[in-house]
Parts: sequence; C-alpha cells; structure tokens
Amino acid sequence: MDYSYDLAIIGGGPGGYVAGIKAAQMGKKVCVIEKDRVGGTCLNSGCIPTKVMIKTAKILSEIREASAFAIDGVDPQKLSVSMPRLQERKKTVVGQLTGGIGGLLRANKVEHISGSACFADAHTIKVGERAITSRHIIVATGSKAIIPSFIALEGDNCVLTSAEALELDHIPDRVAIVGGGVIGVEFAYILNKLGSKVTVLELADRILPMVDREVSAMAQKRMEKDGVKFFLGAKVGRVKNNMVICELGGKEQSIQADAVLMAVGRAPNTDGLGAEGIGIEMNRGAIKVDGSMRTNIENIYAIGDVCGKVMLAHTASHEGLTALSVIYGGSHQTINYERIPSCIYLEPEIACIGLSEEEAKKRHDNVKVGRFPLAANGKSLLEGDTDGIFKVITEGTHGEILGVHLYGKHATEMIFGISSAMTGELTADEILSGIFPHPTVSEALQESFMAAVGKAIHC
Ligand code: FAD
Ligand code: NAD
Repeated sequence: MDYSYDLAIIGGGPGGYVAGIKAAQMGKKVCVIEKDRVGGTCLNSGCIPTKVMIKTAKILSEIREASAFAIDGVDPQKLSVSMPRLQERKKTVVGQLTGGIGGLLRANKVEHISGSACFADAHTIKVGERAITSRHIIVATGSKAIIPSFIALEGDNCVLTSAEALELDHIPDRVAIVGGGVIGVEFAYILNKLGSKVTVLELADRILPMVDREVSAMAQKRMEKDGVKFFLGAKVGRVKNNMVICELGGKEQSIQADAVLMAVGRAPNTDGLGAEGIGIEMNRGAIKVDGSMRTNIENIYAIGDVCGKVMLAHTASHEGLTALSVIYGGSHQTINYERIPSCIYLEPEIACIGLSEEEAKKRHDNVKVGRFPLAANGKSLLEGDTDGIFKVITEGTHGEILGVHLYGKHATEMIFGISSAMTGELTADEILSGIFPHPTVSEALQESFMAAVGKAIHC
C-alpha cells in the first residue's frame, strides 16, 4: 500500500514538532498537523509565557532589595509593572520561539499542515476535506485546562484558567487560586510579586504534593513570608460572585476575591480526534499506551500530555524520541518515568528527580539522606538568598542515587547533571570524584552527596 507520508504527527507541541524534525532527519517523509500554533501549549500558553512573567516578577523582587546590595536611589514604593509592556515582551519571546520552530520544520522538510485532524481509519486522517494517508501516525494532541464539574459556578464570576491568567492586562486586587499544584503555586508567586493579594486553596495537606515534603514545606513558608495565604485541606465546592466556598476542617469557609484561578489539573485533549471511533483504547480520557508509546493499534503511537502520564514538555519530547526508536530502530525504546526531572520556578527554584525521602524509605531498607542548607553556601550568601536546602537520597549499601531534591537559587539549571548521572547509574562516590567549581550553588550539591556518604566538610 502506498501512503502519502511515512509518518503523520497530529499536534505541533514539544511532543509533535520534536518527533517530526527527528523523523525527517532520519530520512522519513513527515507531516505535522497543527490546528492552532506550532509550539503547542508549552510555547504559546504554558512553560514559556509563564516564565516570561516569572522573570519580571523576579527582577521586580530583586530591585526591591537594591539597598541590601549597596545600591542607592531605588524607592521600592515607586516600582510598578506595566502589564501591557509585559504582554508585549511575552508576545515577542513567544513569537521568536514559535517562528524558530516554523523555520526548523521547513529546514528539515517537515510539511506543516494547518487544520484540525480527525481519524478516518488507522492510516487515514481527515483535515477538512483533505485525506492524508500515512504508514505510521503519532498522536500528540496535548491537554486542556479543566474547570471541574464538582466546582459549581454561581452568579457573576471572573474565573480564569492559566491560559487566561497569562493574558491579564491588569493585576487583580484579590486573587483566589484553587489548587496548590505547580500551576497554582507558580501563578501565586507571579501574582503576589506583581501586587495581588493571593490566597491558595489546596485539597491536600500541603502544597506541591508531588514534591518532597521537606521542600514543599520550605517553599510554602517562603511564600507565606512574601504574603501569600494558604488554606490546606480545603475542598473547594462552589464559587459564587467571586467568593470561593470550601470545606475546611468540617466547616464552611469563604474567601472573597476579584478573580479566581482554577488550577486543579489538566485533561488529555482528544476533542474531535475520532480516536475512539477507529478503536483506539482509552484510559480515563487519555490515550492508553505501553512503555514504548504504542497504542493498541499497530501503526499508531501517542506521546505527551494526551497520554496523561507525566505532563511536562521534556517528557513529551522524550516520549516522541522513544516512539521513533521503536518505529525506526534506536536505543531509547522505553522510558523510566522515575527519572524525569521536574522544575518549579519560584524564588528560589525547586528542581527534583527520583524518589522523595518518604517513598525511598518505603521501598528500600537502607536509605541515606544527605542534606545541605544553602545558608552555608558562599554563592547563595553573596547572591543574597540563603533560603533553601539541597537533599540527596541514596541507597545506603551501594550508593545508588534514588532521588535528588534541590530548593535553592539556580536549582533548575543543575538537575540535568543528576539526570545524566542517574541514567549512567553513577554512585554517590562516583559523583564525588568529579570537581565542583567554586563559588557556585552546585557546591551545595557536592556537600549533600558528601553528607549522604558520611563525609560532609562544610556542615
Ligand atoms: P501540547 O504542547 O499541548 O501541544 C499539542 C498541540 O496539538 C497543540 O498545539 C494543539 O493545538 C494541537 N492539537 C490538538 N488537537 C489537534 C487536532 N485534532 N488536530 C491538530 N492539532 C491538534 N512543562 C514543563 O516541562 N515546564 C514548564 O515550565 C511548564 N509550565 C507550564 C505552565 C503552564 C501554565 C501549563 C498549562 C503547562 C506547563 N507545562 C510545563 C506543561 C507543558 O506545557 C506540557 O506538558 C507540554 O506542552 C505537552 O506537550 P504536548 O506536545 O504533549 O502537547
Ligand atoms: P496539578 O495536578 O499539579 O495540581 C492540581 C492541584 O489541585 C492538586 O494539588 C490537587 O490536590 C488540587 N485540587 C484538586 N481538586 C481540588 C479542589 N476541589 N479544591 C482544592 N484543591 C484541589 O495540576 P496543575 O497545577 O493544574 O498543573 C497541570 C500540569 O501542568 C501538571 O501536570 C504540571 O506538570 C504541568 N505544569 C508544569 C509546570 C512546570 O514544570 N514548572 C508548570 C505548570 C504546569
């Protein structure tokens, strides 16, 4: 059977466009079908635009501290952020990156087809009137924000999803954020720094439930010091005229806001795709895949948020490379989901990989934990922020790295080293045979590993 393409990819986010370029580099005839803008959620309404806003929030925060760095003439009361100009900057950054991806697709001869794709059969996709046939198909349609049906909306509300919060042209006076996961906490940081009075309502007994408990407690404390209020164990059931009503300790509590950000998770996006119509198996709204991104249909794969596994941009890209390895041959045929780094962009930053201390102790008899407080790190001190802790969890007998949790300045730039070390199965002693440059925050990582093997020097 002759197909128009070797590979058709539905969705041009970090899952789809990376897989498209890579497959073309492997000599395949490829198309990427995108109904909106290439770059997907990540570039257009996720990772990049949030970090543009976080950058402004961080600069503002640092300038407010100018006097502590011997700089005169800055009146913190006079500082303000121009939201229209921040939006302009965000558009420029996003435009430059999405334009770059368009260029990369062209340079690699990946055909970019604009439109909404729908399966006609296992080898045929309809985009409007056009029928596209392909030997293999990868679904990379991402996820969408949810406003859950268990939260009733009554009266006149200003309820925002993260996408709408990224378009704000003014800073609301009072913001209630439902959900203290990654989106909730990153927006709490941004909005608080830009001038909103922020209250976060989280169902679990702590914010960032996916992060090591010690780290999430420290991050909460720091944000509280900056003025963010947290209601933990709060089950939000209703929003009425911007009043968020929750159940807290068996009692009803209400928080009046001017805007309410819903950040209670995202759902895989299969709207209009016709996946079930051709027999693709689903699992609670997500496309069901095995550890090599195969669906139940031989020639169809799914990657990224639509699989509902670990909803991160780098996971989506890596899953795409895994699918290509399986289809065309290559070394990355499965993914170890316990070795995916995760970064949260606060002040200071969180970066983690592997097991939390709690989880490691459940699974292993002999666990060693090495900690190093950033108050004892020279670079953190000279940079004026000594909040934070670096924490390393190893298996005590062989020194295998089980988990690393960094809460400190520049943490997100450091976690990649641990990701490589874990993939290469380096032990704590082998990490310590390397040389850590001075003065850097990474020296705190060295000290944490030293502490894990019982040889801390500076603590
Ligand atoms: P997406 O990026 O969602 O791309 C899917 C694409 O498919 C979209 O462009 C969509 O238009 C298109 N599409 C959907 N259906 C069809 C169809 N039928 N036909 C044609 N096209 C279709 N992750 C990180 O790693 N780091 C971060 O800092 C980070 N920050 C985030 C901040 C926010 C506010 C949000 C919401 C998410 C953030 N994420 C972050 C998560 C990250 O954005 C996603 O994990 C990532 O974008 C998933 O990539 P994907 O390719 O699977 O899907
Ligand atoms: P999430 O799953 O991280 O957090 C949702 C939170 O809402 C949970 O903590 C949950 O306990 C809480 N919740 C649920 N129902 C509630 C209720 N009724 N009342 C109060 N709280 C309730 O989801 P998210 O924050 O929306 O993020 C979605 C995805 O986007 C995540 O998978 C994340 O990986 C990704 N993301 C990543 C980054 C990053 O890597 N820096 C940034 C933003 C988003």
